[in-house]
Amino acid sequence: MMLKAILPKSERCYAVAGAAIGALSPALCIFYDRLAQTSGGLWANGMPASAVIAAGVMPLVGGMLFHQWGACRSRLVRELDLRRRTEENLSRIVHTDQLTGMANRFALERDIRDRLSGGSAVGDRSALLLLDLDRFKFVNDSMGHDAGDELLVALGQRLIEAMAGTATVYRLGGDEFVIVIAGTPSDGKIEDICLTIKNLFAEPFQLSAAQFWTGGSVGVAYIEPDDRSMSAVLKRADLALYKAKEIAGNSHRVYEPHMAVEATRKGEIEYDLSRALAAGEFFLEYQPIVGIESRAIRSFEALIRWRHPQKGIIPPDRFIGAAEKTGLILPIGNWVVRTACLEAARWPAPTGVAVNVAGDQFKDRAFVAHVKACLAEAGLAPGRLTIEVTESIFSVDAAIISDSLTELRAHGVRIALDDFGIGFSSINNLRRFPLDQLKVDRSFTRSMMGNQRDAELVDIILQLGNTFQVSTTIEGIETEGQMEFVRALGASEAQGFLISRPVSAQEAMAILKREPQKIAAVSMG
Ligand code: C2E
Ligand code: MG
Ligand code: MG
Repeated sequence: MMLKAILPKSERCYAVAGAAIGALSPALCIFYDRLAQTSGGLWANGMPASAVIAAGVMPLVGGMLFHQWGACRSRLVRELDLRRRTEENLSRIVHTDQLTGMANRFALERDIRDRLSGGSAVGDRSALLLLDLDRFKFVNDSMGHDAGDELLVALGQRLIEAMAGTATVYRLGGDEFVIVIAGTPSDGKIEDICLTIKNLFAEPFQLSAAQFWTGGSVGVAYIEPDDRSMSAVLKRADLALYKAKEIAGNSHRVYEPHMAVEATRKGEIEYDLSRALAAGEFFLEYQPIVGIESRAIRSFEALIRWRHPQKGIIPPDRFIGAAEKTGLILPIGNWVVRTACLEAARWPAPTGVAVNVAGDQFKDRAFVAHVKACLAEAGLAPGRLTIEVTESIFSVDAAIISDSLTELRAHGVRIALDDFGIGFSSINNLRRFPLDQLKVDRSFTRSMMGNQRDAELVDIILQLGNTFQVSTTIEGIETEGQMEFVRALGASEAQGFLISRPVSAQEAMAILKREPQKIAAVSMG
């Protein structure tokens, strides 16, 4: 019982055999002594008693012992073999992605660790490519998780085939894949591999539900000798990937140190944003929108600014993205609506106010109720408020957007489609969603006078506005020439530095007092 508790089975066999030999030897000696005393040391036929014993008993004992030893040995070998195979299987399971059958994150971690601890030749500088699929969330959300899984398996298969003999591929998790090119690949080789990856998206993916076209972005980083872990390399590849995603469609970027500096700055902005609202660091400026014929002010667009205690005034383009990413756009956006309503309520009617609203704000079901509450609190007629949305909001659940816009419009609030012409610019969006105003993006204004095609596009957008019976506003008017050009094309309103730069609420009030005859009713489309 005691042996059972302290020794594994195989070793117990040996112990018992050894004990048996030990116990047998003294017994044999005693037996021999007894015989020697009775027969004078010899058997009747003259043979020594010890020889008889040796010849008769020892083979039996030896045979038994060796048989036991042999049995134990082969059992031990079998057990060791089983243990080795179990360990190999476990290792394979741990290092394999269950969905695609590819090497997984743990395998990558192991391989990079091996490389860093001297498993590769001196001077080696392997490259790690981090590939992220475009629109994967869309597949999962709109076509279901099974379709998402199918897409990952199909892409994994294409990657394995394309990289065979060139590089090692891993699935990191989600829609992220890693490709490691060993040795010291030249820039040209990395370019070639990125092109191969890009070509993997040239054909659609055949999913059970439908064919699906997609693309992917790649961030490239080198595995440096002073890297301590996989996460250090992945972090650099991730920064490069982030930059690659800023470029449209199937792009790649190689990591550069300034990317880390930018990321730190963004991180600081995100951190500072979280306390800026409570610290009262935001304020609104207002830019007039005028009727194109009368030049009378119809409304002001509210534009947020951030008075940062150290960095000075920060424009919205530099923090709205971070606010969206962190979810802070909800409280900040609510603050903008409330402040704009309260400040506009002091202006003489019917001057309106337009507020920019990000798509994520509509995800908050309470947003529409908040707008109504702000109008009521300020005593502002709903028709004097315009909500400006860009086409990117249509990537949020269309049902939520449609319900919210319809409810706001039913309440009397106007809806404008901002920056029209640079996004998806889908005519379907104009048909599907209730709108009152189209704002033509200022990039057209800049180019339309020197570029025939852009001039024609502005004309087409203005005609679209007419067809859908919405008012049309041209943004970014900086010269009289531009003003005259869009007037001739039939735009209804203009906004831009020619008329006025954005001003404070007090200055807006002063302009309205100074030029009361220039106040016009907000166009109802
Ligand atoms: P937007 O809604 O298209 O606003 C017009 C932008 O064009 C403003 O920039 C304005 O200052 C600028 N602008 C107007 N006229 C001219 C011109 O003649 N020439 C030039 N070069 N620029 C002109 P701003 O204030 O920097 O705002 C940039 C964007 O930030 C806005 O574009 C809007 O998309 C976003 N934004 C501003 N305030 C808010 C806000 O409260 N919430 C949200 N979600 N986004 C906001
Ligand atoms: Mg706007
Ligand atoms: Mg705009």
